Amino acid sequence: MTSIPQPLLQYAALERNLQCTHPLYETVTNHLSMYRAGYFGEKSLDYYLSFDDFPYEKVDSCRLYNGQHHFQMDKLLIFPQFILLIEIKNYTDQITFDHEFGTLIQTKSDGTEKPYQDPLAQIQNQEYNLQNWLERRIPNVPPIEKLIVFVNKNVNLKRSAALRLDPRIITGYLFPSHLRKLHSKYSERPSIIDPEYVSNLLKKENQPLNIRALDRLSISESELFKGVKCFICLKNLMNYSKGVWRCTNCSGKGRENHIEALKDYFLLVDNTITNAQARNWLGIDSFHSARRILNSANLTREGNSSSTKYRSNWNIQEDYKYLLDRRKLDNQ
Ligand SMILES: [Zn+2]
Repeated sequence: MTSIPQPLLQYAALERNLQCTHPLYETVTNHLSMYRAGYFGEKSLDYYLSFDDFPYEKVDSCRLYNGQHHFQMDKLLIFPQFILLIEIKNYTDQITFDHEFGTLIQTKSDGTEKPYQDPLAQIQNQEYNLQNWLERRIPNVPPIEKLIVFVNKNVNLKRSAALRLDPRIITGYLFPSHLRKLHSKYSERPSIIDPEYVSNLLKKENQPLNIRALDRLSISESELFKGVKCFICLKNLMNYSKGVWRCTNCSGKGRENHIEALKDYFLLVDNTITNAQARNWLGIDSFHSARRILNSANLTREGNSSSTKYRSNWNIQEDYKYLLDRRKLDNQ
């Protein structure tokens, strides 16, 4: 299963807690869209992989250290005879390649163009790093095959005049047949590696990127738009009274609406919270209400009386799915 990248959750939580008028709001939504596209792109390739039962080990979004810097790979399929390195692209609209110049141009329906690095150059760099990394750890490195897969159904791949498109660049639809071809090309050859051993090695040394979005963008906690947001009108605040949260704008109400706000806090600000910090973050005045809320949430109490802190037990992979469910960003 493709794991949820921590920066995706960071930017999603930040987007929820920032006013649209904040000068960095657009930067945040751009980062968010990029991580969303990456994550959902990887997930959609898993769909195509679910049809085959070849004897490989799969390693998802692997970030390794080569002694000087980190390099990241979207997906690796490890067979006994070869390794398939996959770069996943979730671009939409028209994509034009120019391998000669090492560029890729995305042309949106309104005519605007955005340049990116040619994924071919990108994956060759990954291959070089992976090759070196493996040579230092296993006696024989098998051939490394590469595929760049454009998974979005709304993509139109084009090549610039006279240059052919590299055959390793394909759409998701073609992925199963390419995988079968590679598999039959190598199936008669002797085994070089133990896929399980190599995949465990990669997983053990994987260093997923962890960021604190506030630090990355130099946004201070005081600039955040605090309070419990209505789950219906998204950016409107809710008031707490007699155990019930009520939207100030629509009919939205509930008893547990503070949970997501607390999760956002633990993600964005700190992994512990005091009663005073919770009152400030949730926008409630009553010490006793805040204590009731904190005691009923899935938190560990540390210390006593005025210095009590509550520590999060929420799991990044399991408890933050609400941050992936942002309807208004889905079309970006
Ligand atoms: Zn509302």
